[in-house]
Amino acid sequence: MANTPPSSSNTRKDWHLREVHELTQAHEVDPTQGLQDHQIAQRTLEFGANELPTADSRSLWALVWEQFSDFMILVLLAAAVISGVMGDLVDTLVIVVIVLLNAAIGLVQSWRADQALAALQRLSEAQATVLRSGQVQQVPAQVLVPGDIVLLEAGNQIPADLRLIKTAQLKVDESALTGESVTVDKHPHMLEGTEHALGDRLNMAFKGTTATHGRGHGLVVATGMATELGKVAGLLDQSQQRSTPLQLRLAAFGKRVALAVLGICAVIFVVGVLRGEDPLLMVLTAISLAVAAIPEALPAVVTVLLALGARKMVSINALIRRLPSVETLGSVTVICSDKTGTLTQNRMQAQCLVAGQPDEASDWMPPTALSGTAQTAAPDAAHTELLQAAALCNDATLAADGSWRGDPTETALTEIAAQAGLMKTTLDAQWPRMLEHPFDAVRKRMSTIHQQAQEVVAYIKGAPESVIPLCTSQWSAQSGGAPGHINTSAWLARADALAAQGLRVLAMARRNHGSLPEPQASADTIERDLCLIGLIGLIDPPRPEALEAVRECMQAGITPVMITGDHPATARAIAHRLGIVTEADAEVLTGADLTQLDDTALMVKVRQVRVYARVDPAQKIRIVQALQAHGEFVAMTGDGVNDAPALKQADIGIAMGKGGTDVAREAASLVLLDDNFATIVKAVREGRRIYDNVRKFVRYAMTGNSGEIWTIFLAPLLMLPIPLLPIHILWVNLVTDGLPGLALAAEPAERGIMQRPPRAPTESLFAQGMWQHILGVGLLLGGLCLGVQAWALSTSHAHWQTMVFTVLTLGQMAHVLAIRSETEALWQQGLTSNRPLLGAVLLTFCLQMATIYVPFLNPIFKTQPLSLPELALCLAASAVVWVVVEIEKAWRRSRRAASTDVAADAP
Ligand code: ATP
Repeated sequence: MANTPPSSSNTRKDWHLREVHELTQAHEVDPTQGLQDHQIAQRTLEFGANELPTADSRSLWALVWEQFSDFMILVLLAAAVISGVMGDLVDTLVIVVIVLLNAAIGLVQSWRADQALAALQRLSEAQATVLRSGQVQQVPAQVLVPGDIVLLEAGNQIPADLRLIKTAQLKVDESALTGESVTVDKHPHMLEGTEHALGDRLNMAFKGTTATHGRGHGLVVATGMATELGKVAGLLDQSQQRSTPLQLRLAAFGKRVALAVLGICAVIFVVGVLRGEDPLLMVLTAISLAVAAIPEALPAVVTVLLALGARKMVSINALIRRLPSVETLGSVTVICSDKTGTLTQNRMQAQCLVAGQPDEASDWMPPTALSGTAQTAAPDAAHTELLQAAALCNDATLAADGSWRGDPTETALTEIAAQAGLMKTTLDAQWPRMLEHPFDAVRKRMSTIHQQAQEVVAYIKGAPESVIPLCTSQWSAQSGGAPGHINTSAWLARADALAAQGLRVLAMARRNHGSLPEPQASADTIERDLCLIGLIGLIDPPRPEALEAVRECMQAGITPVMITGDHPATARAIAHRLGIVTEADAEVLTGADLTQLDDTALMVKVRQVRVYARVDPAQKIRIVQALQAHGEFVAMTGDGVNDAPALKQADIGIAMGKGGTDVAREAASLVLLDDNFATIVKAVREGRRIYDNVRKFVRYAMTGNSGEIWTIFLAPLLMLPIPLLPIHILWVNLVTDGLPGLALAAEPAERGIMQRPPRAPTESLFAQGMWQHILGVGLLLGGLCLGVQAWALSTSHAHWQTMVFTVLTLGQMAHVLAIRSETEALWQQGLTSNRPLLGAVLLTFCLQMATIYVPFLNPIFKTQPLSLPELALCLAASAVVWVVVEIEKAWRRSRRAASTDVAADAP
């Protein structure tokens, strides 16, 4: 019956009232091996994916409806139909086709934005650690099936409903399910009685809750909608927050512009009618202009730019979890980073073992130590005891390929023990672990209790200042391991000396117990009266790329700050090597110092301190707040359970993708897939580029719109006839807004993007002369159109309307090429450095030429073929836009150079 899936699993829900072995039997699983492949396949078929239905992204129809439900579009279509019925049917048809094309572009943009967002969301889906076919594996949480054996540790989100099989000090935060904020102690024993509320089912862990402490193994008993969360959640809205602050601001801005445009269109209509134009034509003209000039698509295009940018950021290992952070990354002024693994390689190697006495004479250098004085002699009794403690009080596991898996500090310890002939697996068999108090970042130590026959020993490993003060004796080989006198301050001084060399130092201690303590015995009762065995110094070299990244940060006006749980001397040494601090004896503020400082004093300190050490996760939040009080825009990294509040408080919370916990990832807005500091700097650079491109798009689109309005609005005031027909206006809007605008997303970063100071987060999108540009260059474009019109009319060129139509389109093409950079000239950038844009401009040019020179399009677009001199005039007029914007940029360049000179001359 091995293949029969446990159909009863999801129907009988009294798992907490049954023994573990009964449940594993019912699920046909060996808890030490996990499910086999064929069982998983069959159960996936029967139970489906372990996921809750989400409020899905918008359907295609909703997107289509969104495009057409715009009031102005409906009015335009209605007016076109009326005019068609009354006169020119072809005209109506063309208008409808152009509106349809416009809607299709809008649809593709919205669809691409949704797709990019969905792809990002898929990337941040939860993972689970599971035992299958005897192997520990990481799998996406949705593939779990009843019968799976899940391994939990602090920081994990519980991926399905589990009946706990084994626990070690496991505490779970069930507030997401029960609303109860106090964490619950879990155990694996069967419950007595029959009535147990969810919060009282202490041998169960429920999907959606989080393990905050300790470890455990659980049997999956319910998945997906069959879980307790599934029952209460129904439809879970996991959809990403759709609107970013920028989009909201743009939407509000768009409404104001819309009102102004509508006002102008009304004036154009009234003036036209008063001048004796056909009222129906004037209605169509006014509405076409409104449709073309109201920037209703801005928020949607900005989403596309942000979402495409976010998707591209995955390729540099930065996963955006909240879209708004793409736009705010460029404002970061301080990056607070962990040390271990982010600034350093987290490739630990034991370098120096101190046992027996705290002086150098008794050190044992492992054969692989990088130090030139490495010796290969076998370790003596004291060092052997030290290595045994390091291997036993250790959670690394041996993988099938013979390598050690787990926390790099711990794998380094098992490796060095193995080199000295002490295999962890053999030791574990001789001294089985009976109880444990897992490592946590506040205690900064862990302990495990082992038994061999009647002998019970607790091994403790942790930060020297956390372990040494608990020691009342030291292990002495001379007296056969009997406790000897300890000179605590000498040991602490030795630990400091090792840390000052940049080593990560751990202390090991032990304690004999007469008998096995109670399973619920607190860590304090185990970790006292200890006998110190010795110290191990591990080298963790800085990441080579971090050095360059720190330099880049400083050039970009961003202050890098190290906040670590490690020893102050280690932190200072590494910070100095990386250039975070320049003096070798730079001030380091410790967690203990922090508790002495009130908020006002801390505000003064954060101005100068660049390195914080032995800091509790809870203290990080104070540092962030003090920095924010100075107006800093803070990015902060974190990986542990307790880091979540600080990640939320920071302006950009950054979690670790490899080493971090689910809790930290949930709280973060950016996840580093490679846990690397240099990636944060790359993400900031990318954020600046994307924001620049959003600004470029807005500058381009709004200037074009302003040009169109000026042209039509000013014509009657200058006693000129209405320069363009509705079709022309709609066509210009279609070809200029669609492709060239979007191709700006591909614009590479401006040169020197990381040499300018961060943008103030409150700075308006239209700051730094954008408003003036939109109005001024728009007026120039309008002036050129009208100038060409006036000249053509005065010289009785019959093609004046086609000429205005051409200048308005090509002028915008010249503009888009000119605004590719805010300062650099087009010839410095190179025409081909944004090929999509060059392609879009050429395509638009060809389409425009087609409307003029393809004979059957002439009656449709109401155009006439231009003579060569006429075309040359149009091209020259359009080129003026480019020349003027280049002059504007040259002026901006010279102003920037002058301000840098002044800054450089400043004392
Ligand atoms: P960072 O905060 O930069 O990542 P960190 O890894 O040193 O630095 P924590 O993980 O909070 O910070 O560790 C704090 C201290 O606890 C370490 O400096 C070390 O002394 C000790 N420690 C770290 N890992 C273990 C472990 N697995 N067992 C025992 N002690 C440990």
